[in-house]
Amino acid sequence: MKICQSIDEIRQALRETRQGLKVGFVPTMGALHEGHLSLVERCKEQCELCVVSIYVNPAQFGPSEDLDKYPRNLEKDLELLSQKGVDLIFFPDNAQMYPQGYRTWIEVEELSEKLCGASRPGHFRGVATVVLKLCNIVRPELMFMGLKDFQQIVVLERMLQDLNSETRIVRCAIIREEDGLALSSRNAYLNPDERLRARALNQALKTAQKRVASGLRSSAELIREAEESVLAAGGRIDYIRIVDSDSLEDAAEVDENSRMLMAVFFGNTRLIDNCSLIT
Ligand code: AMP
Repeated sequence: MKICQSIDEIRQALRETRQGLKVGFVPTMGALHEGHLSLVERCKEQCELCVVSIYVNPAQFGPSEDLDKYPRNLEKDLELLSQKGVDLIFFPDNAQMYPQGYRTWIEVEELSEKLCGASRPGHFRGVATVVLKLCNIVRPELMFMGLKDFQQIVVLERMLQDLNSETRIVRCAIIREEDGLALSSRNAYLNPDERLRARALNQALKTAQKRVASGLRSSAELIREAEESVLAAGGRIDYIRIVDSDSLEDAAEVDENSRMLMAVFFGNTRLIDNCSLIT
């Protein structure tokens, strides 16, 4: 496993190794867990060369967000990735990614302003910019991303299509703890009591799926029930919505393309989760 810290180094390593091989890419912010590792596994299955980046991108954090305290554990991350048989690691520093004089930003209109974008202004501008930069450096055929960050996938697919990129996103399943909580690097912020109560997110999604299976189609009613159960668990709701999976517009009635998405605080920790409603 080769580790590259500069853009020149990773480009050179890729020139030497790609030789017609299919390149897959898994962008991460590190503090790796089984969710990230499942993307690496998919990448290894579908591609001949597997590249992983570890970069906590300051441009996607708001001024009052957790950039400084975001969990970092490079040594353990490298060990896990080496065990998985990753070929190349890219972990640049900020000076590599945003050198002095940096002026270019990617805006994916409308899709970036809804849901998480409404409470995290500028977040998807930072995400889209760094992912396009990483794609330009690695030039992967496939990029593996988790459905946990559903809006992120929708925004980035739009960006890649609009900018005529040849990179395609492979949407990967959400990996969960035994009690249903979606794995996230931010789960480490939860105290034991919050951790227990955070089960309510996935439980509310599963209840909504069951209610839809038994015939309920009214989004307002489904959202009301989900809100009630998350509030009862002590969550502070940022949003719970049912949207069309492509446009992210609110859906009044549930259909095959509807998804329930939520962002909820437990203590100071903001967690997200989502699921399709007709499975
Ligand atoms: P992050 O390090 O949070 O930027 O996430 C890097 C990638 O891992 C993104 O594509 C996430 O959607 C994905 N990811 C994070 N958590 C999970 C999970 N529980 N299951 C599947 N993919 C995940």
